[in-house]
Amino acid sequence: MPTAARARQSLPSNEEAALSNTPTSRPVTACQICGAPELASVLFLGYVPPVNTMPPIGRPAEEQSGYPLELLRCTACGLVQIGLEVDPAVLFPHSYPYLSGSTRILRSNFADLCAEASPLVGLAQGDLVIDIGSNDGTLLGNFKEAGFRVLGIEPSQAGDVARSRGIDTLTAYFGGETARAVKAQHGTARLITAANVFAHIGGIHEVVAGIVDLLAPDGVFVSESHYLVDLVETLQYDTIYHEHLRYYHLGSLKRLLEQHGLEVFHVKRIPTHGGSIRVYAARAGSRSVLPSVAERLADEEARGIANGAALADFRARVLQSKLELYRLLAPLKRENARIYGIGAPSRASTLINYAALDDGILDCVLEISTSHKLGKYIPGTRIPVLDEEKLFAEQPEYAMLLSWHIADELVANLRKKGYRGRFIVPLPEPRIV
Ligand SMILES: [Zn+2]
Repeated sequence: MPTAARARQSLPSNEEAALSNTPTSRPVTACQICGAPELASVLFLGYVPPVNTMPPIGRPAEEQSGYPLELLRCTACGLVQIGLEVDPAVLFPHSYPYLSGSTRILRSNFADLCAEASPLVGLAQGDLVIDIGSNDGTLLGNFKEAGFRVLGIEPSQAGDVARSRGIDTLTAYFGGETARAVKAQHGTARLITAANVFAHIGGIHEVVAGIVDLLAPDGVFVSESHYLVDLVETLQYDTIYHEHLRYYHLGSLKRLLEQHGLEVFHVKRIPTHGGSIRVYAARAGSRSVLPSVAERLADEEARGIANGAALADFRARVLQSKLELYRLLAPLKRENARIYGIGAPSRASTLINYAALDDGILDCVLEISTSHKLGKYIPGTRIPVLDEEKLFAEQPEYAMLLSWHIADELVANLRKKGYRGRFIVPLPEPRIV
């Protein structure tokens, strides 16, 4: 998943780097897409450590860097973006633990993308499909099975998992140089995908230029990104974290791609990450534009996303949700109820830090036994991440779903495995189920 055009390949690439002070982050003072300097503050969530700042349990509490987590909106083009670009070597160490194959929704989404894109693009046997930020190869596995040539580009260790599954994977950050090297060795691609990385890459113009360079004349670029409409409407402020540099709506993506001669010809809302958009683009004029594009743009207009009106009360709604969460938790803690958190995705760190859910509120956060996060503390806290088995053995009164956007899937799963307590869903309206 991690990809960074602006990467400094020589920087330390282990978790120790994330735990030490780094002077290499840059405030965002001009819009990442249009370059305008007029950036209005939408929301400031505090000084928060990077989500991979997870010291081992038992290590004495040490000095930690907190990075400002502020959401800005460009008043010129409407792009919503983060206020500080943290050095990618800090955010995406080689040991970056995220693996994409882990949820049912993600796996079925990637199967769906393959099934939809292959006929829409007109892929033929032997065509090259390239996935940028290919992670553990889950998406490309679908294309490989369908008979296409595949190549993943992935800077983290997740690429080892992909290779062990037979998915050809290049260990690199994606940028102009990588694009040229890949083109020289493999030729151009009929399809280039970027799923849940296109909002994470710094130096986005170099990245899009590299994609255009690598794309066959009749090739298609498909990106999947968390969708600003879902973020705002269902209060997913917890998807705001330093890895996530831009918060796209179709209008801003379209503008970005057009600057590089690409035209959006199809768009679809998809359920991943609590609501995302899948956007198809090709060289301008090379494909007929489907009605979905005008429909989505009109919808963004109607919802006040295009002109920013929908963001006006976002800050107040986020604050209210935090206070409502306290109101729900206070009587439970008065009775000394045990509350175990479920899951430690990146978004959990924003929620826990912004809402200040310390180890007095959450006794622990539980992860499956294969998780790289076991045996560590949640960033910015002394909340330990422990094996999920603890939930079934100890039956705490409450389990708080930190991946609340997949609450239904999680509740069904944990009930099946034998948990008998109650569930707390922290967002958008805190509730007990
Ligand atoms: Zn702008």
